[in-house]
Formats: sequence, structure tokens, C-alpha cells
Amino acid sequence: MGMIHANDPSLTSWIPVAPDSDFPIQNLPYGIFKPSNRAPRVGVAIGDFVLDLHVLQETGYFEGFKLPFQIFRRPFLNDFMALGKQKTNRVRERISEILREDNHELRENKIVRHRAVIPMEEVEMQMPVFARDYTDFYSSIEHATNVGKMFRDPDNALLPNWKHIPVGYHGRASSIVLSGTSIKRPSGQTKADTADAPTFGPSKLLDFELEMAFVTNVATPMGDSISTTHAETFIFGMVLFNDWSARDIQKWEYVPLGPFLGKNFASSISPWVVPLEALEPFRVGGPKQDPEPLPYLKQEGPKNFDINLEVAIQPNDGEEHTVCRSNFKHMYWSMSQQLAHHTVNGCNINPGDLYGSGTISGPTPDSYGSMLELSWRGTKPITLPDGSTRKFIEDYDTVVMRGYCKNDNYRIGFGEVRTQVLPAYL
Ligand code: MN
Repeated sequence: MGMIHANDPSLTSWIPVAPDSDFPIQNLPYGIFKPSNRAPRVGVAIGDFVLDLHVLQETGYFEGFKLPFQIFRRPFLNDFMALGKQKTNRVRERISEILREDNHELRENKIVRHRAVIPMEEVEMQMPVFARDYTDFYSSIEHATNVGKMFRDPDNALLPNWKHIPVGYHGRASSIVLSGTSIKRPSGQTKADTADAPTFGPSKLLDFELEMAFVTNVATPMGDSISTTHAETFIFGMVLFNDWSARDIQKWEYVPLGPFLGKNFASSISPWVVPLEALEPFRVGGPKQDPEPLPYLKQEGPKNFDINLEVAIQPNDGEEHTVCRSNFKHMYWSMSQQLAHHTVNGCNINPGDLYGSGTISGPTPDSYGSMLELSWRGTKPITLPDGSTRKFIEDYDTVVMRGYCKNDNYRIGFGEVRTQVLPAYL
């Protein structure tokens, strides 16, 4: 069988993969899909196809792996992820082996192949994980600085704690929806600076937040902490994350306890969870941290990842227009530091929990990860190809986020998270 690693750039698959595909053999992201008239199960994306892992397990392709009964015939990835990295990494290597150009095990087994390799357009994707909890960080220094400049003091944009703590808050897991699910514009209380009293109505400042989220794989006992050294063992993979925000509701409600109804009405995620192992070739160092963080937040070696990110707005029946190009590598605090901080007080974690990065803004104005920053609080409207302008997101707009890693050898992508905004109920 050899010892070829799943990330080997020379690998190709017997399943055709276009050069610009998000899903070459080096990626192998996991998702939950529903074939017509059959139960949801775990699939892996390869080119324009989905590999049905349940069929592979039932037909003996994981013999000797000691996997639990029907571990892939589940409505979420949680049970599979909870097997831990040692097991799930062996499965990843095995899938890579089965899909390799020179491997005939499945390629030449026509009966199983026809059941296990399904065109992506024929399946319906579902929520990949069951998230009991969702935490949102605020870890982009560019985003935090921009927001601080706009709403507080331009000369002291960052609050005194920001460079010492990966600041975060507990979000709402119940309203996280899959790409393709439309959302309604939220209504709520807002108060204009010039008004004496608040009024109730649809949000006028609906915004996206370009984020990525990581997913934890196993449960830890209450009282335990995860060190930065071990944090990546607990991170199964990453998805694209649009953390919808109603800026006007947020502005009036957030003092003194922080985000609430301006944030909890919806967040959208992409269907494919890219395993952290696939991102290994794209590992990079983060920005220099000054002042030095406390010992429990110190980390060894590069912990950031070079992931190109884009946001496009598509007006109703109009064409898509890219409004932002950013990169995950700009994050000041790494995922390892976020998880170490999250658990340093003994807070336990669970399989499927989601941890949003916070809005990922880059250093240049075209890399800002929200309309709040792109339009600078509405003072610099963006013009779309149809001539219309946007300060924030309008009814029937579709917001699309995409992400991919690219080096000299190959590119791996995250697919997309796509959401249309519908009018508020009145
Ligand atoms: Mn957010």
C-alpha cells in the first residue's frame, strides 16, 4: 500500500477533477448528504462527485478499521469526529488511497462504484454538524481597529484588553443554517442618535460578516483545559461562516452585556468541512503579537493558515459582484489560542461545536469583511454592475462567500456559503 500521504501533490484520482475544482484528491472534505429516498449519510467531495462512505463501509472498504456499526449512516458528522484524530486521520488516508489513479479496488468494482460515487448535483446537502454551542471571536486586528475607529475613539481604537485576550462571546447555535437557506430580515428596536426614544421595525442596516468557523471533534470533561500545544488535536476542520448582523439593532442593545438580537437571528455555514490535515501545506505564521501574550496563550510554530476569501453580492436577477477579497492569515489570534483561551477556565467542549473567527478584514479597504467597514458606516456606498448602490444588504440580495488555498502544486477550496435575504415580516 505504501506510505503516500494524502497531501502528496503528485496524487491524482481516477475520478475526473477539473483544475479549478475546489475538491481535488488532496482536499477530501466531509459533509452530510441525502441521496434520494435514502437516509442522510457522510460523504466526501471529490471533483463534481460525492463519495458515499456508508456504502464503502457496508461493502468492506474499511475492514480492520474497527469503526462503529454504521458510523457513516448518521445525520451529522458528530459521531465520526468523536472517534478522535487518530481514527479519522486513518480514514482520510484510506479514502485517498481508494481514490488514487492507480488503485483499482473501487475503480474496477462497477457495482459498488455506481452506488458509492454520486454526481454532486443529484444530492441534497444537509447541516454537516450538530452544534450544541457556538462561540464567536473578534480576532481580526484590522476589523477590531476599524470598528473602534468608527464607534469609539479613532486614537484608541482597540480596547485595552484586545491584545491580551482573544475576545469573544457566546452566540446562538439554534439559528445556524446551511448555505442555500434564505433568511428573513430581522426586526427589532433601534434608536437614531437624534431620537429621544427607540422605535420598532425591520433592521435598516443588515450586514454580513466574512468569517470562518472551526469545529471541535471530541468532548472534554468540565474542569479540563486545552493547551495551545494540543489545541489542533481537538479541531476537526473548518467551514465558511457568514455571521449575519443587524448593525442598528446591535448598536442600541449591546451595552453593557454585548451582542444579542442583532446577532442571534441567523448565521450561515458552508456544507463541506475541510479537515485541518488538508490545510497543512498552507500553514503560515501569524502577525507578530506585541505585547507578548500570557504564558497560557503562547504558541510554538506557525498556527495560521493561508486561505483566500471572497465575498460577492448578487442583486435579485442581477449579476454577482465581488465586494471583498481577504485572507484568513491576517487573524491576530490563532484558532489554537482561541481554544486555549476558551477552555482555560475549565469550560468543556463538545463534538460539533462551532467557533467563529470574527470578521476577517485585511489591511486594505477592499479586504474589509463587512459592509459596515466596506461602506465605512454608510459614508462610501459601493456601486454594483447594475448601477445600484449598497451601503448595507437589501431585500432579495444574495451574499456569496468563497474560500480556497492555493500553492504551486494545487488548490483546495471550501465551496461556498450562499444566502438570500428576504423581506421582514411586518
Ligand atoms: Mn461575528
